[in-house]
Amino acid sequence: MTFSNLPYTPERWSLSDLFPSPDGPEMKATFAEVEAKVADFEGKRSLLTLDIDHEKFMDFVRLGEQITRLISRFYAFANLWFSEDTQNQAAQNLQARVDQFVASVENRTLFFGLWWKALDEATATRLMENTGDYHYWLEEMRHFKPHTLSEPEEKIVNIKNTTGISALNTLYETITNRYVFKITVDGEEKEQTRDALMVYVRQHDPELRAAAYQELYRVYGQDSTILGMMYQNLVRDWRNEQINLRHFASPISTRNLANDIPDEVVDTLLEVSKRNAPIFQRFFRLKARWLGVERLRRYDIYAPVVKSDKTYAFDAATGLVLDSFNKFDPRLATLAQRLFTEKHIDSEVRKGKESGAFCWSVNPGLAPWMLVNFQGHTDDVLTLAHELGHAIHAMLAADHTQYTFHSSLPLAETASTFGEMMVVDRLLAEESDEDVRRDLLFRQVDDAYATIMRQVFFALFERQAHEMTHQGAMVDELASAYMENLRTQFGEAVELSDEFRWEWVSIPHIYRVPFYVYAYAFGQLLVFSLYKQFKAEGESFKPRYIKILSAGGSDAPARILDEAGINIRHPEFWQGGYDVLQGLVEQLEALPIKVIAA
Ligand SMILES: [Zn+2]
Repeated sequence: MTFSNLPYTPERWSLSDLFPSPDGPEMKATFAEVEAKVADFEGKRSLLTLDIDHEKFMDFVRLGEQITRLISRFYAFANLWFSEDTQNQAAQNLQARVDQFVASVENRTLFFGLWWKALDEATATRLMENTGDYHYWLEEMRHFKPHTLSEPEEKIVNIKNTTGISALNTLYETITNRYVFKITVDGEEKEQTRDALMVYVRQHDPELRAAAYQELYRVYGQDSTILGMMYQNLVRDWRNEQINLRHFASPISTRNLANDIPDEVVDTLLEVSKRNAPIFQRFFRLKARWLGVERLRRYDIYAPVVKSDKTYAFDAATGLVLDSFNKFDPRLATLAQRLFTEKHIDSEVRKGKESGAFCWSVNPGLAPWMLVNFQGHTDDVLTLAHELGHAIHAMLAADHTQYTFHSSLPLAETASTFGEMMVVDRLLAEESDEDVRRDLLFRQVDDAYATIMRQVFFALFERQAHEMTHQGAMVDELASAYMENLRTQFGEAVELSDEFRWEWVSIPHIYRVPFYVYAYAFGQLLVFSLYKQFKAEGESFKPRYIKILSAGGSDAPARILDEAGINIRHPEFWQGGYDVLQGLVEQLEALPIKVIAA
């Protein structure tokens, strides 16, 4: 079967598999149905006793799942509808209404989780028997037992958070989203958003690259004291709650438990990564030679080394992606094709539509929805592969429950990144234009730097900043520690200028979701390691890979990977990912250098 002549064109998606319309009777009926089920759930509360029998207990679990399943549908509808046109006020209204409804449902059903976590071990073990696919969900909730407070205390934390930590985060976002960045391009001064400004750091003109970064940190630097104080308050709040009240062993442990990854594994990942920083330093030295400069500036790390403006038509791009998937395993291509035939992809570029790309899986078995802004560049082809990879991952896990079909965070980027690598391989095999090939190879290492090493050093900084703040450090001292962190990361290979001391106050993740960032490195290194195994083993690797994806989020990441013969506790496993990268860098070093003029 070939996918190269399918008549796909960029189009708007259809949300009718969720609801035929935003204000029709179906939507109203679903609200009413959830309302009735929640009332039923609340009404059963008195049945939650130590001697509750298995069937009654399972009634709770199943009813809770049905509620979540229904809520996911209108939650998705409201958000997807909004993302197709962010200026649509009716969509904004629906979104706000749904948010409020979901929050109230969460509060009204909170008691079940609290009861379950508070249960003694013997009763919990009795009730967990024969729970099938719900088992891991139930087990995972109880991991938080030692860190859970009483119901009134949890409610106070929730209430105080809305005007405390959440408000502080909203304030951070409000302040930073209002920033306007000025840059002069071709003699004309432009006012840009951050996203638009950052486009220049990947362009050929070295002065524009420098100007973009200087402007970024000039603006953030002006508010550095305020933004730094906000960060320190978030960090203190994290410590007060997670360590003093909930008794986690360290600030990062909270995140590790939520990811269900043992602390030692994360320590190993970070340590092995730190040791491998020289691979990227080597890459940056090579890049300097390609750019014809003595030493790379921090401004230049994403600079392109070749000029290639190859573009692909939408049908050619989808053909390429589906063919690559098909070659690996026809099941992948068949699943991916469902999104096209069921009109679940919004691919055209439209005014008001959300920028970027995402994939949203709503219910097990329902084909996910996917948004891209296809403009025909190589990046757009890889983005198609990436998002379709996410969709395939969710569809392969369709046999699991609403609670367990989504993979957990550390495994969430497996199918997406792997899908991209299949397509890169295919492009490299077929492309005869040397410039396009070089561009692809360099881009792979650029991206690996951004998702692996950069994120690892953010996580290392977070660990240090949490400790320093606890010890009473000032904002300026954190900035100095950040510069030291960058010097370790880049060694002598990259010239750092002083404005980068404010880079950390510009990273929303370390504010909103402390220690989130290492999951990116985890996912990408895992995929490199898997890809290495695939190259070495060929066919015999495929069923193991499909098995990892099909597991969804139905077990702990370490156990899912153990099943596939991967031991994430071993430093060698992570080193395997870096070996692949080293191979890529060596491949680039072997190419004859062709310096292009800016
Ligand atoms: Zn992704």
